[in-house]
Amino acid sequence: MKRQLIERLDQGPVICAEGFLFEVEKRGYLASGEFVPMVSLEHPEALENLHRDFQHAGSDVVEAFTYNGHREKMRVIGKEDLLEPLNRAALKIAKKVADNPLDGGEPNLMAGNISNSNIWEEGNNESQNEVHRMFSEMVEWAVDEGADMLIGETFYYAEEAYKALEIMKETGLPCVLTIAPMAENIMRDGVGIVETMQELEQRGADVVGMNCFRGPETMMPYLIEARKVLKCHMAALPIPFRTTEANPTFFNLPDEHGCTCPAPHGRTFPTALDPLYVNRYEIQKFGKEAYDLGINYLGVCCGATPMHIREVAEAAGLTVPASKYREKMENHFMYGDTPRIAEHMKEFGDKA
Ligand SMILES: [Zn+2]
Repeated sequence: MKRQLIERLDQGPVICAEGFLFEVEKRGYLASGEFVPMVSLEHPEALENLHRDFQHAGSDVVEAFTYNGHREKMRVIGKEDLLEPLNRAALKIAKKVADNPLDGGEPNLMAGNISNSNIWEEGNNESQNEVHRMFSEMVEWAVDEGADMLIGETFYYAEEAYKALEIMKETGLPCVLTIAPMAENIMRDGVGIVETMQELEQRGADVVGMNCFRGPETMMPYLIEARKVLKCHMAALPIPFRTTEANPTFFNLPDEHGCTCPAPHGRTFPTALDPLYVNRYEIQKFGKEAYDLGINYLGVCCGATPMHIREVAEAAGLTVPASKYREKMENHFMYGDTPRIAEHMKEFGDKA
């Protein structure tokens, strides 16, 4: 028995891990900056392990790692011939993990994925037709490999998001559309953030929301406004970094934490963001606030580790396999409070 996406959302929270570019890069299988997901072909076992770790942390959706695995990016790196094999390999790995849940119970949902093309240009028919072709072939491969649902994500042009939705909807599969407005706090083609989400709902997206670029602090205000006007299910997948009103996205986030060795390329994004992480309680707080607002599709994007996914899942009231390993400070050698902790060590704790 496997419930589909909308049925699950009608019944409660659905967790979706994203942000694989960052996590795979940290695990040593992908070049930062270039950001091409060759891992599905070069180290399929590493990608499968990543999906399994997120599954263990509570992700209900196994999103195929095809982010940036599109024709334009493959052209940039001169590997266009590997485009279809890369997509199919990523989809097959996601399917394998989704079909084999840890507890042997209800399978996860496998999601096909398309995202910001980075060539979409306002008023340029040629670039828009190219994007149409890129999206169409990726969606076709996803359907072919047995996707349960489709995710279109990280769009910062409203019209590109509408185009993605149009192509995704032709399949009849449930469609999740999440946008990622840049620091101007408006879509690049001048459409308002909430207005874009409303339009996506009008055009038939099943789930509408935001992902990536923004941390909890600079995403939440728009989710609150959108929840007031959207009737459909909503999605919230921030990055786990401390973005601010002055720097609403992680692209220009300064490190004001006493950094002694800045990144050679002059910005913290994407390789020196580590000191700017939110802590787990902050991501948990975000998850709870979003869930209390009535946002049932929850996750974390670039920067997400399995720990963040577990925190969000638990914030929505779920117990997941990784909950077994939630912190147990009561047994700590200095800060614990169980009777067997030595009294002299407890007393030393504040001076440690
Ligand atoms: Zn992301």
